[in-house]
Amino acid sequence: MSDTDTISEQDTAEFRQRCVDFMDAHGQAHGEGLPDSEEQQAFLAAAAEAGLAGVPYPAEFGGGGLTMAHEKIWREVKGKYRMMDSEYIISHGMCLPMLNEYGTAEQKRRYMADIISGTTMWCQMFSEPGAGSDVASLQSRAELDGDEWILNGQKVWTTLAHKSDYGIVVARTDPELVKHAGLSMFILDMRAPGVEIRPIHQIDGGRHFNEVFFSDVRIPKDHLLGEYNAGWKLATAMLMYERVAIGGAGSGQINQPTFKLLAKAARENGKIDDPVVRDQLMQIYSMETTKAMVAQRNRAEQQAGKTPGPGGSLGKLFGSNIAWKMREVALEIAGPDSVAWDPHDVAGGERQRIVLNSFSSSIAGGTDEIQRNIIGDRVLGLPREPSVDKGVPFKDLKVGTQTG
Ligand SMILES: Cc1cc2nc3c(=O)[nH]c(=O)nc-3n(C[C@H](O)[C@H](O)[C@H](O)COP(=O)(O)OP(=O)(O)OC[C@H]3O[C@@H](n4cnc5c(N)ncnc54)[C@H](O)[C@@H]3O)c2cc1C
Repeated sequence: MSDTDTISEQDTAEFRQRCVDFMDAHGQAHGEGLPDSEEQQAFLAAAAEAGLAGVPYPAEFGGGGLTMAHEKIWREVKGKYRMMDSEYIISHGMCLPMLNEYGTAEQKRRYMADIISGTTMWCQMFSEPGAGSDVASLQSRAELDGDEWILNGQKVWTTLAHKSDYGIVVARTDPELVKHAGLSMFILDMRAPGVEIRPIHQIDGGRHFNEVFFSDVRIPKDHLLGEYNAGWKLATAMLMYERVAIGGAGSGQINQPTFKLLAKAARENGKIDDPVVRDQLMQIYSMETTKAMVAQRNRAEQQAGKTPGPGGSLGKLFGSNIAWKMREVALEIAGPDSVAWDPHDVAGGERQRIVLNSFSSSIAGGTDEIQRNIIGDRVLGLPREPSVDKGVPFKDLKVGTQTG
């Protein structure tokens, strides 16, 4: 990242105006339909052209070459408009900072500018059928053969794999070592021969994530990201970025989007004066306010140049608690209309999709139970859970299809 100093009042005002001018020209108001993939890509291309995509990343790698203080202003301004680049949360919130932090100079030169401008989309391939919460038990294997790694195995729940140009994948490179030690991270071309992507259908009719199969996929040797067998350290860093990206998504301001959505629904359904509904709405209001403050603290840590710490789990957990509460209140207010809509109404279903997709917030990016474990172990300093696999080489463990 560029330097993290605070900026002068004049700089702040000028930069804010630059952001406002850009968003007035390229943004959409809240409440308009979701921008499609082409619109999102066009938005990012224009933002990159204006130096507003990837604000704190070095200009030589396609960024704005500014500070995290500028980034904060950009987020604040952008947050007043409809989210224009939601499909790029993984690309920008997770893959981009990983390349910036761990990539070689050549990898940065080759990939960062295209991620920033949305020219390429990236996905994250960690989870496997037998390794989700316990991702260190993953079984996909990468073996070095001359100048190439040969990758075999399977990933699952890979968000947007079907639209992605590249992915960051973790695979086992040394099964003789204990499970956390023998992993490495790679940059994978999603169109490489041997990569097969199969869609998974979701409750709202969408197809946002996938199974991904690898059959003798050849990865150039220099596509290793970070050090050989340092995959766990990098995976942990990427998960921290993920929790901040999910838990801190949005404007960077103190705001209450779910409260606003539900209050509007309550007005439309004649429930706004119901004291029980009002009480529940206020609970959501205060939870969202707290979540926004936690997100601000996490971002301030990043602004100070720190890799996100376990505090990101707090924001993520808060987000899923809000989602649970939102479902309850939405049902109270609108009954079946909160989850069903006329399939012929092409523009319809936005609110209902949010309710249906809210289930995933307790699972994606690490389940609620795992966030609680992290908060217990690493924030509150409580004793860790006993681990029966400590010191045992991965090849001797009974995990997934491996008999041990
Ligand atoms: C919408 C969505 C998008 C996703 N996108 C991606 C993606 O892009 N890339 C990717 O790699 N993955 C992705 N995932 C996968 C996600 O990371 C995993 O689903 C998640 O980590 C849980 O793993 P699992 O499904 O294997 O469940 P399991 O790990 O099998 O967990 C099952 C249950 O056991 C509980 N549990 C497990 N271990 C413990 C423990 N130690 N203590 C207490 N309880 C425990 C869990 O909390 C859960 O309730 C996505 C998932 C969703 C829902």
